[in-house]
Amino acid sequence: MIDSIKDVAITGGTHGNELTGVHLVKHWLSHPAEVQRDSFSTELHLTNPKANKEVRRYIDQDLNRQFNIEDLKNPELQGYEQQRAKSLDALLGPKENPRIDFIIDMHTTTANMGMSLIFNSSDPLVIGMAFYIKQKMPHATLFYNPSDRLEDNFLTSIGRLNGLLIEVGPIAQGLLNYQVYFDTHTAVMHALDYLQQRNKGLPLNLPAQMEGYQFTKKIPLPENTEGEITAMVHPNLQDKDYHAIKPGDPLFITMAGETIVYEGEQMVYGAFINEAAYYDQNIGLSFMEKINITLQDSNL
Ligand SMILES: [Zn+2]
Repeated sequence: MIDSIKDVAITGGTHGNELTGVHLVKHWLSHPAEVQRDSFSTELHLTNPKANKEVRRYIDQDLNRQFNIEDLKNPELQGYEQQRAKSLDALLGPKENPRIDFIIDMHTTTANMGMSLIFNSSDPLVIGMAFYIKQKMPHATLFYNPSDRLEDNFLTSIGRLNGLLIEVGPIAQGLLNYQVYFDTHTAVMHALDYLQQRNKGLPLNLPAQMEGYQFTKKIPLPENTEGEITAMVHPNLQDKDYHAIKPGDPLFITMAGETIVYEGEQMVYGAFINEAAYYDQNIGLSFMEKINITLQDSNL
């Protein structure tokens, strides 16, 4: 039996300085027909208004790390974003028995990651959506991190089937860029069309397997004993998101111009390379592994 979707939420501004999602939500609030489909209802939410107003990623904490079930239940967590997470859980969830079936959360990155479709659920409906969008937008990259929904700390995880995080870049924080806005708009339209077609049992003609990337670890920028960064992303690595990094390839370059190479033994791939938002934790990039993602779904 097809698991039908009745309630969808589209969210923007979870990071307050990522303006694309903020302005798309505002646009759709005044043009709701664009996000309406007759087989489900769509609601629109600006999730971090105070950070939006201040054009900051967050006021007290990163909102998109506050949705783990234990944190939502912890009354001692009272920072602004921790409170926002509890309010959003009440509005869209609650996490253990959500009202909303699926959440589409719109983000941007300063890294050269193009259109990245980030999804943490292994449910065939979610994988199928990513495959569907990639078929329509072949330049998109699938970024797959299967996780337990209750443990997951992303906003999308308070949806019954989790959801999709659309991450588009490169774009500076606090900026709009029409190509990024248009690409995000297009991806959301495909996501809604997919749910509509699936609800109606229409053929989707999706492949059984597609290539993607899976997060392995965050790589810190080199630091001195005071915790200050002593190097930056190497120019050979800058903008090379989703390219291979081989043993011996440059990762960082010190303030004095000395190259620091990758000393691992396995070939890896980079993402979020020189992401401005990660300087608060002195993170230089993420390492990814290339994977094949399989869609096992007798309904498709
Ligand atoms: Zn973001």
